[in-house]
Amino acid sequence: MIMIETDKRKCLRCSACVGVCPHTALTLKEHGIECDKEKCVSCGLCKDFCPMGAISVVKE
Ligand code: SF4
Ligand code: SF4
Repeated sequence: MIMIETDKRKCLRCSACVGVCPHTALTLKEHGIECDKEKCVSCGLCKDFCPMGAISVVKE
């Protein structure tokens, strides 16, 4: 299964990825970005928009 992972050390909590996801799969929580696996289609758009390179598309 392919999923989104965010590096909490790099993430600025800027919410850019949250706004760009066409499937509203991302939410900014206190501990960082959370990805709803039910909604995410692994398109990688959020990865391209993250200014910090904090998002990776990984195989689980
Ligand atoms: S775009 Fe990148 S830095 Fe901004 S909240 Fe998302 S993961 Fe964090
Ligand atoms: S990979 Fe695509 S669907 Fe999944 S969280 Fe990122 S922008 Fe949304």
